[in-house]
Formats: sequence, structure tokens, C-alpha cells
Amino acid sequence: GRSTLDAVVEGVTLVEDDPEELTVGFGGLPNEDGVVQLDAAVMDGATHRAGAVAALEDIRHPTKVARLVMEQTKRVLLVGEGARRFALANGFVAENLLTEKARRMWLYWRRRRSQIDDWLDPSPDEADLDAQAWYDRHFYHAGPAPSGGTVHCSAIDAAGNMSCATSTSGHAFKLAGRVGDSPILGAGLYVDNDIGSCGSIGHGEANLQHLSSYAVVE
Ligand code: ASP
Repeated sequence: GRSTLDAVVEGVTLVEDDPEELTVGFGGLPNEDGVVQLDAAVMDGATHRAGAVAALEDIRHPTKVARLVMEQTKRVLLVGEGARRFALANGFVAENLLTEKARRMWLYWRRRRSQIDDWLDPSPDEADLDAQAWYDRHFYHAGPAPSGGTVHCSAIDAAGNMSCATSTSGHAFKLAGRVGDSPILGAGLYVDNDIGSCGSIGHGEANLQHLSSYAVVE
């Protein structure tokens, strides 16, 4: 009995709350400085109204913030500190999104990424098997191919109304301020009641260069 927008926002919020999920919301892997920066967007298929936030820090529910950008402002996309202040003004609580698990992965990456910086590789007696397995899978492609991380949800109701949402912490250890495809309309998500809905995970830059969700729907 509720709108498809309610459904998709509630759906991705569950994933944002999951501390074990390393690619979305609370517990997402941080940027190269160890800071979690989140991207998210929502779009309504009947009206093409949309809201998005990018490089948002300290707020675990970026999709709910994106929805408020759509509902309370004349704008579509807020980034960084402006997005954070908008969230705080709307009663969202600032918290540290970097979990112990994500911090360990980040530090492991930092210590292993180069032989010509100040950091020593982890020694065998410091073995962090989880971090090591994750690192090898993503950076050396040992074992199963790395899968994209991000959540997209599209929904349709009995009347044919559609909405969609996409939420991510973006590429692990990205440059500070890097924004991927997820909060960009036409790239990370696109919906039109007359046709359908599409969203994406995976290498965001490739999608930004092709606006694939728009291409698929149109
Ligand atoms: N598409 C996401 C981004 O580029 C990452 C992913 O899904 O793996 O930010």
C-alpha cells in the first residue's frame, strides 16, 4: 500500500545499515585517506524527479538524504560538506562510519600498496587473513573474480508506477572527492514509467562515459 519510492528507499537502507557489507553505507570501505565517502540517488519514474548526494561523510543513510534533496529543495545533487550540513539540518546524526573491519582492510592496503613509501608490508606474525584474502581477490584477481559493490533497487507497483535508488561507498580507497556513477542520473540509475528502470554496479567511470542506465531505458 505504500509508494514504490518508499519501497526502494527502505530496501537500500537495509543494506546501508549492514556493517558486514564493505561497499555500501555503514561499514563501507573508505577512500585512500581512510574516510568513508558515500554516493546515493533516488528517482521517480512518473515525474522524473530525483535527488542525489555525493561524497557525503558521517551519515549512514545517504539514500534517505537524497530523497529529502528531491522532496525539500529545487535542486537535484548536493555534494560533500554541503550535503552533510543538509543532512544534519534534517536531523540525521553524524557518526564514524569506518568499522573495525573496514579500517583493517584499509590499513592492510596502505601497507602493501608500495615498496617506496614509509610503510612496511605486514609481517607473517601480523597475518590478517580476512584482509589478505580480500586484497588478493581485488588487486591480484586470485580466486573468484572481484564483484562490483553497490546496491541498486528498482520497484514497480500494480498501477505501473516505478521508482529506483542506488547507494554505494564507491571504489575502495578511491581518491578523496571522487564521485562514481551511482549518484549521477542516467549513469547509476534511470527510470521512466513509460519504459522501465535500470541501475548499475561495477566500474563507475566506464558508466559515466556512456550513461548506460539512460541508454538502456531509452
Ligand atoms: N559503481 C560503483 C562506483 O563506481 C562501484 C561498484 O559498484 O563497484 O562508485
